[in-house]
Amino acid sequence: MSMGPGGRGMRGGFLTEEEKKNQPKVTKELLVRVFSYLAPYWKQLILTLVLILISSVLRMQPSILTGRIIDEGLINRNLEVLIKLILLSLGVTFGAEMIGVAESYLNSWIAQHITFDMRNKMYAHLQKMSQSFFTSNNQGDIITRMTSDIQGVQSIITNTFTSIISNVITLVVALVAMFQKNWILAILGIILVPLFTIPTRAAGKTRWELTRESQAVHDEVNGLLNETLSVSGQLLVKLFGKEEYEYKKYENANRKMINLNIRESMAGRWFRVILSTLTSIGPMALYLVGGILMMKYDADLSVGDITVMVSLLGRLYGPVNSLLNIQTEWIRAMANFTRIFEYYDMPVEIENKPDAIVPEKAYGNVDFEHVFFHYDPSREILKDVSFTLKSGNSVAIVGPSGSGKSTMVNLIPRLYDVTGGSVKFDGVDVRDLDLAYLRNNVGVVSQETYLFNGSIRDNLLYAKPDATEQELIEALKKANIYDFIESQDEGLDTMVGNRGLKLSGGEKQRISIARVLLKDPALLIFDEATSALDSINENKIQEAIEPLIESRTSILIAHRLSTILSADEILVVRDGEIVERGQHEELVKAGGVYTELYETQFKKALEVMGKDNVKVC
Ligand code: ATP
Repeated sequence: MSMGPGGRGMRGGFLTEEEKKNQPKVTKELLVRVFSYLAPYWKQLILTLVLILISSVLRMQPSILTGRIIDEGLINRNLEVLIKLILLSLGVTFGAEMIGVAESYLNSWIAQHITFDMRNKMYAHLQKMSQSFFTSNNQGDIITRMTSDIQGVQSIITNTFTSIISNVITLVVALVAMFQKNWILAILGIILVPLFTIPTRAAGKTRWELTRESQAVHDEVNGLLNETLSVSGQLLVKLFGKEEYEYKKYENANRKMINLNIRESMAGRWFRVILSTLTSIGPMALYLVGGILMMKYDADLSVGDITVMVSLLGRLYGPVNSLLNIQTEWIRAMANFTRIFEYYDMPVEIENKPDAIVPEKAYGNVDFEHVFFHYDPSREILKDVSFTLKSGNSVAIVGPSGSGKSTMVNLIPRLYDVTGGSVKFDGVDVRDLDLAYLRNNVGVVSQETYLFNGSIRDNLLYAKPDATEQELIEALKKANIYDFIESQDEGLDTMVGNRGLKLSGGEKQRISIARVLLKDPALLIFDEATSALDSINENKIQEAIEPLIESRTSILIAHRLSTILSADEILVVRDGEIVERGQHEELVKAGGVYTELYETQFKKALEVMGKDNVKVC
């Protein structure tokens, strides 16, 4: 719908079913909270308000001046007055636009500053969330809150806020001007505008619904194409002889789409018919009634006055239509704020205690004392786990997939907190230790190595920003990856690609070992990759990790025999319980879970690895 110059456009005017269902409850607290974000900028907000007021009033002037241009200039045949009035009208429009520029600048300044504050607050809060938040929430959702929802807030401030004010002002000024000219025509205008805006709105809604429907079918067709025209999709279709079936499915969706598209474009066409007819009835009705009043009743009305009325009427449509959308805008705005506040209100589960302990030196002793843990109360993952690791020693944790090995080690740097019992680091419950201290002294090489997009150097410096070149090289040598880096043209400045994708799994893991070594942690946790690496890479990792285990307190989640053998003690975990513990030889003989694992997994690997390792056993 055409927006009169006074009416600022508002975002799509209708709520979807989902939006209607999820309408937020607007409480006083919510409003107070929303306004608390605007409050710091109250001075700028008031200035914007004043500017909007001035520019809205000025923008109405050319319409009002039209009457004088006609009566005093044209009908009176006075060229001088005509030119003056035209110049005045142009000048006022220019002035209004200049003020409009200042207002837009201020507006976007305020909106940007408010969203800057909100984004920072959200990011800081998200960083405090525990690992379980990130595992249970969809990454897309988290990013949407950070981006679109906060973007929504910005649009509320720049569009909704200004549009409400300027539309109300435009309406008031137009109506006052109309009443000044002639009250009968003014009342006629007031009756006409909603009579015409409401049906156009209804027609607009039908069209909007059709567009949405056709969009959904469009997505369906795209989905079908993506699925069946991909390499693996086609393979499946061919192997199962589903060509005919898929064709029928596609044909159906395609037919649905053309029908909808035709209806949609016709609805658009009808919409335009309704719109132009209705909007032209208004001026005609004013001309007619104005003419009758002027000719039959000798009313105090000039041709110019009637033209002004028609012009002002045209200015009413936009603001009235926008104001009809306000409820929708308001609900969307509140929903946006509510979603953002939901995130702000999520409790920080893993927090630093105010009186957290920062010991002078870390040794790496670990005690698990009757540890229980669950992600979800319905399923206990760790059940009464107890073990002790003395500084300088190493333990290997072995067990079937899903038995809780990674969960166990994640409790040490407090990625999660125990639900029962306690985990102690150097004799102090990890929950009483300073988080930064704890995490600084516990180094984890996880199964899934994550390198961010940058050079190898950048990735290493992440662990120790002030590391010298020599330290970097030493760590890389220890991690058995220096030869590879030297062989690269760019050396340490080689880019690793997105998530380190330009490197092989083994190279990535060795770089991440080097990264942890730079941190020089008192305790090293190594979660060995379950996925098969080629034997060269595997041996290289093995060569890197063995001397490390010798020299450091370490916990190894081990899947390969050589790693297990380098540990001082082996803990065998099954279904979240330590079922066996001890040395390799005695465990093999015991005939329990370990023996089974040995027979099914390790022994086979052993044969592949060659006689060197066989000797060890
Ligand atoms: P693998 O050797 O395959 O890595 P694992 O022994 O390390 O296995 P964990 O990763 O500790 O096993 O998982 C133990 C159990 O906890 C599994 O059954 C898993 O499904 C469940 N689990 C792991 N992480 C979560 C999580 N964030 N939320 C809910 N359940 C989880």
